[in-house]
Amino acid sequence: MPRTVGDFGEFGLIDRLARILPTSAAIVEPIGDDCAVVRVGDRLLLASSDMFVEDVHFRRDRTPADAIGWKAAVAALSDIAAMGGAPVFCLISIACPGDLRVSFIEEIYRGLSSAMSRFGAVVAGGDTARSLDRLVIDVAIIGQVLGSRCLRRKGAKVGDLLAVTGFPGSAAAGLHALEHGAADRDAGRALAEIHQRPRPRLREAQWLCNRTAVHAMIDVTDGLAQDAGHIADSSGLGVDIDPASIPVDEALAAYCAEHGLDPRHLALTGGEDYELCFAIDPNDQNQMAEAFRHEFHTEVSIVGRFTDAWQGFRIAGQVSDIRGYDHFRTTPDA
Ligand code: ADP
Ligand code: MG
Repeated sequence: MPRTVGDFGEFGLIDRLARILPTSAAIVEPIGDDCAVVRVGDRLLLASSDMFVEDVHFRRDRTPADAIGWKAAVAALSDIAAMGGAPVFCLISIACPGDLRVSFIEEIYRGLSSAMSRFGAVVAGGDTARSLDRLVIDVAIIGQVLGSRCLRRKGAKVGDLLAVTGFPGSAAAGLHALEHGAADRDAGRALAEIHQRPRPRLREAQWLCNRTAVHAMIDVTDGLAQDAGHIADSSGLGVDIDPASIPVDEALAAYCAEHGLDPRHLALTGGEDYELCFAIDPNDQNQMAEAFRHEFHTEVSIVGRFTDAWQGFRIAGQVSDIRGYDHFRTTPDA
């Protein structure tokens, strides 16, 4: 009989905890999506929180303090993007040991605040407490649903195509560059910048949300395989990812060639890309892609298809042992 958090894994634990909580008429979308959707008066609000723990999410000696703050803000902003909404404000909580330099926390706040204001949100408050040795930062963000709907993980239909923005795997390659002393030159430099200064795809997501042919969406934070799998699971479907269709740009290709890495494996398993992954009606695929590229000068690619023949994700039709990130079960191999 499994008893520890490690036995259950991150998602098993969340499922167990969710069972303890009562339902409420105000909660339109409960636990399980990128944000909760909450009705307040006649408005729909989006709410999400993301925690960053020293030595789990970042290393104090390896990441510039302002980048730690920027990334914490982007993780929260990206969850609002994943629903197609607009961020409004956030609350920041920190726990830190008493001997931490104040200037270090101030730098984190400069990064946090610049990302929030760059993407239209403000820091409205938070909480501060002592921790014994590690720095912990939590960002709770509130956003709003724009127009008549938001996009959820559920809603993909049989025959929908799986699309992804940008070049997933780039952030994982950037982390590799930072960890292997290759972040100061050539492609490694550009990829490390993507890892340390990701951008939430808010405008792109809002644009996709306005398109009725887009049926479901998630942000890519735990690898394309796991995140596409979340859309499939929530929709009661399977998704078949075609690895050969995963786009690889020049920087990612060059870096991976030099370091003996497989860029498509990085895309499937790596984290922190903050790209968007969504299910789209095949009839709108071409018009959507053309209009999207024109509007955002950003790549969007079809990388798979939804099916009712099985549940979860497969890679090129095969059951895969690829696992995305689970806090208690795996360490990312990228
Ligand atoms: P994301 O990676 O998009 O931030 P998570 O995987 O962290 O999403 O969370 C998945 C879902 O589980 C979300 O709806 C989140 O609000 C919920 N969740 C995560 N941890 C907890 C918790 N400790 N208590 C209640 N809900 C939680
Ligand atoms: Mg998310």
